Amino acid sequence: MHTNITPQTPNGFDALNLISPLCRAVNEKEYSNPTPIQMQAVPHLLKGRDLLGCAQTGTGKTAAFALPILQRLKENYQPVGRKEIRSLILTPTRELAVQIMESFEDYGRYLNLKQTVIYGGVRQEKQVKALKYGVDILVATPGRLLDLHNQKFLRLDKVEVFVLDEADRMLDMGFLPDVKKIHSFITKTSQTMLFSATMPIEIQRLTKGFLKDPIKVEVAPPSTTVDKIDQRVLFVDRENKGALLKSMLEDATIERALIFARTKHGANKIVKNLSKGKIRADAIHGNKSQAARLEALNKFKTGKIRVLVATDIASRGIDVDGITHVINYDLPNEPESYVHRIGRTARAGAEGIALSLCDLGELGYLKKIERATNKPVVMEKDHIYHSETIASKRGRSSGFKTKSTQKKRFYGKGPSSRKNSKPATRRGRYKSERPERGRKN
Ligand code: AMP
Repeated sequence: MHTNITPQTPNGFDALNLISPLCRAVNEKEYSNPTPIQMQAVPHLLKGRDLLGCAQTGTGKTAAFALPILQRLKENYQPVGRKEIRSLILTPTRELAVQIMESFEDYGRYLNLKQTVIYGGVRQEKQVKALKYGVDILVATPGRLLDLHNQKFLRLDKVEVFVLDEADRMLDMGFLPDVKKIHSFITKTSQTMLFSATMPIEIQRLTKGFLKDPIKVEVAPPSTTVDKIDQRVLFVDRENKGALLKSMLEDATIERALIFARTKHGANKIVKNLSKGKIRADAIHGNKSQAARLEALNKFKTGKIRVLVATDIASRGIDVDGITHVINYDLPNEPESYVHRIGRTARAGAEGIALSLCDLGELGYLKKIERATNKPVVMEKDHIYHSETIASKRGRSSGFKTKSTQKKRFYGKGPSSRKNSKPATRRGRYKSERPERGRKN
């Protein structure tokens, strides 16, 4: 029970000198210690420094920028004028925008600041109304922001803090010209933060134009895989992937699975295939309406569906607790995407399992991933769709030694569940799903 504003017990956040309403909110989130990026960034940001952050997925970077922004806005409080914005957070996808907004609502719940979120794909009226009398915090995707700015529904000349989140994704999605334009409307004295998981040359150039003497925070090298994730690869002929996935999902220890497909069409096909096997799933990708995407995400978050299928772009906004498994139905052709995908599990220090289905044509991607992460992905051959042909090809071409994990259950949650449960026999686990071809003998 909280009878006063500050936390009852001292916790690791005390060192950050946050104001009481923020300490209280953080305490209610049950964060006991700042994450490394929060530890490194918050003190400098509170002093008004610019920041260049290179951070892994799930590192707590939202709080790293949200807490100092909230503190600044509160301590230097001034009422916003019509259509004015005091702090702007630009982010590439709608889901991520909504999620960042929710974080601001959580952390700022005792501050009484005005905040809103805008993104494309929905009608603009409500957003225009929310902006009419100005807001302290605006989270936005670039296209809609520029659109509303062009229509003079908002002003950017009073922005005190500007955050560019996921800059490398902005680049991938072709947002960079929009971002530069938006930046040109913001006063040069604003405090600016730029976050990116990778630092391609274009982003490095951008940082020079955007940031003044920034502090640099790098929590882990860009392509380092989250260590807590148990990563396995299953070699399987392409035509058997659907059947393998279905049989994998029969295992109840897969409590919440996020499945990645390379294309929107592929994602829809997976959902259809699973529904034939009475496995309820939903897909989120760029062709789905905003409402449908949010609904699917909500069903997944609340446990109404256990399986969500996503494409890479849509996955950016997925921060759902308790994803036990990430399954790469298709391997991505960029190692960065792989790191991002598997980072959806093992959030905030939890453990997670990442399973990749790899056909012959994807061996090259696997090799690239292993090189970039400097870590071999362990082969899992305890399934009847195992392709020895692919495994032996991988064995020859990979720089890493591969080992079989035949004795282990790979769906289990951790060492103890593996130890205590019998390894599922192939026959038992997959009896209804035997393929005609490509079967392991
Ligand atoms: P982010 O990298 O900002 O997407 O955050 C990833 C997850 O970590 C979110 O679910 C946050 O609620 C959580 N988180 C952020 N900071 C902390 C912290 N200091 N302790 C525990 N969890 C945290």
